[in-house]
Amino acid sequence: MIKNISTLALLIFSGLIFQQTNAQTDQRIYEIIDKVSADSIEADIRKLAGFGTRNTFSDTVSDTRGIGAARRWIKSEFDYLSKNCDNCLDVFYQKDFVTTDDGERIPHDAWVVNVVAIQKGTKYPNRYIIMSGDIDSRASNTMDYKTDAPGANDNASGMAGAMEVARVLSQYEFESSVVYVGLSGEEQGLFGGKGLAKYAKENNWEIIGILNNDMIGNIEGVDGVIDNRTFRIFSEPVPPNETDRERTMRRFYGGEVDGISRQLARYVHKTTKTYMPEMNPMMIYRLDRFGRGGHHRPFNDLGFAGIRIMEAHENYNRQHQDIRTEDGIEYGDVVEGVNFDYAEKLTAVNAINMASLAWAPPAPKNVEIGGIVEPSAKLRWDEVEGDIAGYKIYWRETTEAQWQYSRFVGDVNQFTLDGIVIDNYFFGVAAVGKDEHESVVVFPSGVFR
Ligand SMILES: [Zn+2]
Repeated sequence: MIKNISTLALLIFSGLIFQQTNAQTDQRIYEIIDKVSADSIEADIRKLAGFGTRNTFSDTVSDTRGIGAARRWIKSEFDYLSKNCDNCLDVFYQKDFVTTDDGERIPHDAWVVNVVAIQKGTKYPNRYIIMSGDIDSRASNTMDYKTDAPGANDNASGMAGAMEVARVLSQYEFESSVVYVGLSGEEQGLFGGKGLAKYAKENNWEIIGILNNDMIGNIEGVDGVIDNRTFRIFSEPVPPNETDRERTMRRFYGGEVDGISRQLARYVHKTTKTYMPEMNPMMIYRLDRFGRGGHHRPFNDLGFAGIRIMEAHENYNRQHQDIRTEDGIEYGDVVEGVNFDYAEKLTAVNAINMASLAWAPPAPKNVEIGGIVEPSAKLRWDEVEGDIAGYKIYWRETTEAQWQYSRFVGDVNQFTLDGIVIDNYFFGVAAVGKDEHESVVVFPSGVFR
């Protein structure tokens, strides 16, 4: 009898496990991972490197060499994809004029031209999740726009990744809008990112986040370390445009490592671990590499969530270097330095996060927390528009990098976590869609009693 009961319990238990696992994964996400192709990425990187140089100030007239030929080809590829998905992509150039007064690394006045492809969301068309790579490349001297600069890894790899994600995701429909973009002028001062971030602000885009991909194809570090599973997710702790009041409040209520970009980074880390457990994502708690820049920053500057996704081991002999051999060392960012299988994996990381976020409901707004001098923490929030499954409260110990605990609380707008003391954890709330995809976690921005 007892034996039967324990067998039954075991069955129920394993049934629960199965159900739980089943509920947390979406088969379409595995399908997306399978569809991302190293061959396709390789072909695009070879094509981009073949334009000789893609320096932002290089030739714009030639059809075979320079930034003009490169951006026209990228646009034609997006146009081709759009034709194959019943015109699902809105493809256009977004451009800004820069002059030599705009910076010290500008050899002459020029248009900085980004190529943008937007796949409109069916339910929340004004919400945008963006994936970016860069069109431009550079030689040893940034001002030199004539010398060959294939920029195979920096950053044809990120550009090819964004094109590949467009190829795969344009076969699906999403509730929120998905944007694939090639940015220019990165090497001379992040001009393309500034231009698009400004354009987004002027057009009142509600940006879920930008996944900026800059160098996603190198697996051999300059120190000889070879690693094709680890990659880095850079995110700044809190937005730079926060108010004095927000900074003051943080001293009392916390949130030093819980800004919107950090939550986006945690989301990418979690989705990767769920669907691609063979990968080793590293959360890097900084805006970018030490003293260096990337195209997510102009978005962060305007208060948008944005992270940089990139390889773990950089090879400085293959970055920003004229192609040459010196003392037996080969320099130059050539195609031979790119590992296409690794670029495929990081591209898939982007694709599954873009899809999850675009299938998820909007994150709850006005999340507030209470429970001061009480035994239980309380949370409340504004319900999101649309028919959703409900909300999930997350919490973690104050020294933990990732959310450790969570509880799905149903379709309500407040909840009390019995026996969980507010002082000992950080808390956040996410919205959960009908097909289980979740929004980014929102850290409380207010306190109630
Ligand atoms: Zn660079």
